[in-house]
Amino acid sequence: MLAEELVLKQRTKILHALCSSGSAEHLERVLDILLAKGALIWEDYQNIQVPGRTLYTNARQLLDLVYTKGVDTCGLFLAALKLALPEAQAVGLSFSESCSNLQENDECQSTSNQTLLAQRPSLVHKLQGCVDGVLAALLDSGHFSSADCDEVRLPIYTPTQQARRLLDHVRSRGDLAASVLLQYIHQKQEPGLPLNQRELTPPKGLLLSKYQKKLSSSVSAQACFLSTYAGTSHMSLDDIYTDGQLELAEVNAHGPLGLEDIVGLVGIVNEEADTVLVSGEAGSGKSTLLQRLHLLWARGVALQDFLLLFPFSCRRLNSEHNELSVQELLFQHCCWPDRNQEEIFQFILDHPHQILFTFDGLDELKQSFTDEHRVCCPTQRAPVHVLLFNLIQGSLMKGVQKVVTSRSEAVSPLLKKHLRKEVVLKGFSPTGIDSFVRKHHRDPTVAAKVLESMQANTALLGLCHSPVLCWIVSQCHKELLGCGEGSPKTITDVYLMILQHFLQHQSPLKSTMGLGWLQEHLKTVLLLGQLAFEGITSTCYIFSGTDLEACGVTEKDICMVFLIKSKDMSSTHSKCYEFSHVTLQCFFAALFIVLSSNTNRSVIPKLFELENRETGLTRVCFTACLPSSDQQQQASEKESKAAETPNLQITAMFVSGLLSQRHQNLWLHCCPSAAVEKKARQVARCLSKGIQKHFRSIPQPVQGEKKSMHAMPDFVWLIKCLYEMQESRIAKDAMSKLEVDHLKLTYCNIGPVECTALAYVLQHLRNPVGLQLDNNSVGDVGVEQLLPCMHICNSLYLRNNNITDEGIRKLIAKVIQCDSFQKIALFNNKLTDACMQDFSYLLKTKQVFISLRLGNNNITAEGAKQLAEGLKANQTLAYLGLWGNRIGDAGTEALASSLERSNSLVWLSLVGNGVGSAGACALANLIRKSTSLQELWLTENCITRTGVECLIQALKHNTHVTSVWLRNNDLSLEDAEEMKQLESRLIF
Ligand code: ADP
Repeated sequence: MLAEELVLKQRTKILHALCSSGSAEHLERVLDILLAKGALIWEDYQNIQVPGRTLYTNARQLLDLVYTKGVDTCGLFLAALKLALPEAQAVGLSFSESCSNLQENDECQSTSNQTLLAQRPSLVHKLQGCVDGVLAALLDSGHFSSADCDEVRLPIYTPTQQARRLLDHVRSRGDLAASVLLQYIHQKQEPGLPLNQRELTPPKGLLLSKYQKKLSSSVSAQACFLSTYAGTSHMSLDDIYTDGQLELAEVNAHGPLGLEDIVGLVGIVNEEADTVLVSGEAGSGKSTLLQRLHLLWARGVALQDFLLLFPFSCRRLNSEHNELSVQELLFQHCCWPDRNQEEIFQFILDHPHQILFTFDGLDELKQSFTDEHRVCCPTQRAPVHVLLFNLIQGSLMKGVQKVVTSRSEAVSPLLKKHLRKEVVLKGFSPTGIDSFVRKHHRDPTVAAKVLESMQANTALLGLCHSPVLCWIVSQCHKELLGCGEGSPKTITDVYLMILQHFLQHQSPLKSTMGLGWLQEHLKTVLLLGQLAFEGITSTCYIFSGTDLEACGVTEKDICMVFLIKSKDMSSTHSKCYEFSHVTLQCFFAALFIVLSSNTNRSVIPKLFELENRETGLTRVCFTACLPSSDQQQQASEKESKAAETPNLQITAMFVSGLLSQRHQNLWLHCCPSAAVEKKARQVARCLSKGIQKHFRSIPQPVQGEKKSMHAMPDFVWLIKCLYEMQESRIAKDAMSKLEVDHLKLTYCNIGPVECTALAYVLQHLRNPVGLQLDNNSVGDVGVEQLLPCMHICNSLYLRNNNITDEGIRKLIAKVIQCDSFQKIALFNNKLTDACMQDFSYLLKTKQVFISLRLGNNNITAEGAKQLAEGLKANQTLAYLGLWGNRIGDAGTEALASSLERSNSLVWLSLVGNGVGSAGACALANLIRKSTSLQELWLTENCITRTGVECLIQALKHNTHVTSVWLRNNDLSLEDAEEMKQLESRLIF
């Protein structure tokens, strides 16, 4: 008889056997076994063991549940019953022959809580007689309060029940509490250990738990405040943290990710590797995201599979000049164990999967990633960067997960080889901006005003996708809201605004009105500028008191909020400072380049020169421009490879912006105009030369093909510099020489900010181009930014760019006025039926439009019907792609009937749209009538033999169609073979 039937038939007998003694022990024993075997989950257990309910009710609940779970669970239940009941009670019951194996799994599970569950029956046994000891350990480690202990010790409980209540309580307190319990039991049982020593040596779990507490409180203290640019005031991370957009670097794989996905299973590309990379632009929120993860871990709300988390800042590791072992690195730079260092480190070595390391800002490390020097032994000392690279590769501390952040541009292919996965942080979404501003300004009227002002200026809104700029813009809202001096347009404008804001607000004198503010604070700006410049050119981001003194920076300058005290996990270092954001350091370096008369004439050409930078020459040249610094430091700088390109690029962008004609008045009384003008001419020449160099590298087209340019990474940077200059003459000059038909900028990290710059520059092209921006993060705001260059676009490719109906509405309103606009590709965005009316309007209005590709969106039959209205009135569309939507038969019928009148359509794809035979018959009518259609794609639908027969009949009347693709439909192999014989143009 099947186990299920046995359970059902013997229900009364089983209930009697379990409950007639009046003791809950038998039922609880059965429950222990079922939990250990995974036949019941914790929620089941709680639903059965409801306090205050009668024993019979609980037992009935168990029987019901076991029965509904099916034959396997019933088998396990009978086996558990046999084991749990004393023989006398089991008399008369029959147990299934296939009684399952109840051997307990005494291996350690991946978490202590899982071990607690898997070994529950034996733990109940082992705990008897030592419940008090465990309670003391839990009390000592801070996991239990004395009220918790009293609850476990309630006199109504038998010893086994006390043991079970203890296990239940421990479970609810998390993994660390569970490990304290397990360690205690283990210690108790360890043979050969003299009794006195057993009592004197604190259990390992306890030691670890104390260290864990110290570490997490230190991590929490580091992470709970976000340093703000107001320097002295700190904002609680909880109050301000806003989710950024996090995606896998491998496109199309998944939707947006959550914080836990960073170390989760999603998107792993290399199972062997331990390192996850979080990449993103400067200011996209990488450090803040790590800070959030640290805080959530320290509070026990996230990443709970990791018992210990060690956070590192690469910026701070730069200043570690001693060789260290891994143990020293962990303990000196993160958290010092007060006792038993060796044991704690041994625990780390023995449990790599329970440990997490984070390294913030790998791009800020002086040395670039290499796998040349191998260190495999955790006790071997090595320079810190060597340790770090070996940790990342997994040659050291294999199995420990590492999360590393870096700017995207600084990630070398060599590093990519060692990655478990890469996730990209793409700044705030439009709703993210909104919610950030509301969090930033508690007063809703102020928040509403700031938002309104940001939304009125689309260039500004574009900038605000970058959290750091959003922060600045939101912070400087007063300037934004009102003084009528024109709100900021470029990133340089925003940084100038913050400079003015803080200089004026810090000044004890009544602030200078007009343009004199810079002059008034010139000395400070120059001092900070020199510090920043020297730092940028020698990859130095943390400055000691001596560095500041050497530059002449005083306490007063420090109070200016641009420099903040460096957070340091270890207390060994003396006071250090850093710029409140690396981009601010770049800005000050740029100010120095513009204002200082001490810099070498070649600084600007070197800054913009690309080849030299790759070899690190720039740094050497720059350093030579300044009074020579410490010999030893220079030697070590030469040793290290250049990892500073991204910062130099940001600096160059600011230099372009500051030297723009628009800001010339600012420098009037600060430095000689002739010098500034000369520098401005140098920048204009460099940009023009840089762009020309790109153009020259474009290969001649193969005969018959269009001339196409695939942008090199620096192209976008040059375009951004041109935008910062805001001088259309230079942009026009640069662009007039570009003669291409197609401009390809795929995978170039193009977001709204870059779109603004692109549109500004590309609008000066002489001939229309195809603009291919696939696989970027353009979004709706980016689309809006692109509008000014649409008149020069004949085709726009925006596959995989997070665009919604909203963006499309604005795009279409613009492109219907652009004569040359003919093609659009929007594969894999977020379009729904709501924008189909807009496409319909586009088709009706533009009788030059030839290609519409809307694959992998969210279009249903409703949307297709609206699109069909537009198709009816169009006589130019040649390509229509709707792959991977949900158009179904009804939508297909509507499309087919409108397209019957078209004599331009040559290619139609309805792959993967749930099209059945009704749809296929409608398409057969289209084939019968069309004079232009050549290819029809119907792969991955549910078309049956009837539908295909319709298509065959229609094809008899059509000679233009060359192929109809029908793979993966509802047809047997035989049917497909037979149909293929009848019509060779069908492809199965
Ligand atoms: P990155 O490390 O990518 O250069 P940061 O994490 O330092 O960027 O972010 C720069 C600033 O932007 C932060 O100081 C903070 O003001 C703001 N910021 C970044 N991310 C967030 C976020 N998720 N929520 C709120 N503010 C953020």
